[in-house]
Amino acid sequence: MLQVNQAESIILNLVQPLDSERDVETIDLLTASGRILANPVTSKLDFPHWDNSAMDGYAVKFADVKDCNPENPISLEIVEEIPAGYQPQKQIESGQTARIFTGACMPQGADTVVMQEVTKREDDRVVILETPQPQEFVRYRGSFYQAGTPVLNPGIYLGAPEIAVLAALQCPQINVYRRPKVGIISTGNELVTPEQPLQVGQLVDSNQYALAVTLEEMGAEVIRFGILPDEREILQQTIAEAIVNTDFLLSTGGVSVGDYDYIEEILTALGAEIHIHFVAVKPGKPLTVAQFSDAQCLYFGLPGNPVSALVSFWRFVQPALKKLAGVNEAEWGPEFLMARSLQDLHSNGKRETYLWGKLNLGNDGYEFKLAGGSHSSGNLINLAGTTGLAVVPINETLIPAGELVQVLKISFTS
Ligand code: AMP
Ligand code: MG
Repeated sequence: MLQVNQAESIILNLVQPLDSERDVETIDLLTASGRILANPVTSKLDFPHWDNSAMDGYAVKFADVKDCNPENPISLEIVEEIPAGYQPQKQIESGQTARIFTGACMPQGADTVVMQEVTKREDDRVVILETPQPQEFVRYRGSFYQAGTPVLNPGIYLGAPEIAVLAALQCPQINVYRRPKVGIISTGNELVTPEQPLQVGQLVDSNQYALAVTLEEMGAEVIRFGILPDEREILQQTIAEAIVNTDFLLSTGGVSVGDYDYIEEILTALGAEIHIHFVAVKPGKPLTVAQFSDAQCLYFGLPGNPVSALVSFWRFVQPALKKLAGVNEAEWGPEFLMARSLQDLHSNGKRETYLWGKLNLGNDGYEFKLAGGSHSSGNLINLAGTTGLAVVPINETLIPAGELVQVLKISFTS
């Protein structure tokens, strides 16, 4: 059986990222949150756009004030007042200054700002009481960013900081990757929607909800194919239609070894190449990964158990989706942290075991608090509140309380 890291690399090798020319759309900055930049951005503007003051004070020639102190103050003539947004009209000559405010343009001839706290105003003159540093409190044009150089590189998620930068540099429209199209199918004769009355033996299709929302949070366009019965023809027909219009197709259930588990048979009949059948992971041993080369669709047959489905999604599908979406390799994840376990963590040692719980920052670094209740893959009730999955490596049966454990951090984008 494949080990987790072998499965991970097989999957990542199967993923072809979206194309940075063909799979791109131009959007407004205000709609760009959570999208992935597809092309480098350069601006025609320097930043700061003009030499400007970082303080409320007086714009001076440094040479005029280089020797002053409270015993030997220097008096300068104020020739102009420059508030923010005003274009200075006068050139500062020796012995002169301009009253200036934070963010206002530096006048010609001045090279330094003296903050007002070390000055004394006397009508149309000001007395400078302390020598500043040369060029102090001047933000020079282009000192933070020079026009024409790359400001942001492709493959990054756009959030408030990046969008603020692009706005400041007057790049109101940008090229981002289109949203990856991900189809989801729930399989099982026993499944109903949350609205339907339950008959004996039925179960609510929670997987569709879990996958739809996490995919949406990741920026995918989700195409929901609903609940399908365990019937070969219907499954095969839906899958055949779905692969044509999706980058990834995810199904849950029907990938185990039971009599009603048809997914692999159908994938083979439709011409897919199956690369993964099982992975030595708990929860989530059955995992089908198949490629439809003609349709350019990667198929993930996830286990039906709700916890197995989500853990398999976080561990295997999420990094693949980030690669598909055009995200930089360094961000594909998953992100692992070392945390001190607050409880004993048990495994049977046969498979790499993921135990769900909460990751908190304690006084001494991260701590992992195991979710209380059953860790059966059929129990999703205690999954609520999960922010981390502690990993008990294969061949290990116990990580005692107080020891460090590797924890997969659950996050959506970065
Ligand atoms: P399967 O892999 O189809 O044998 O399903 C394994 C277990 O997961 C069974 O108990 C199913 O009833 C349950 N299950 C399958 N699909 C879903 C789903 N979409 N939502 C919740 N539970 C499911
Ligand atoms: Mg089933």
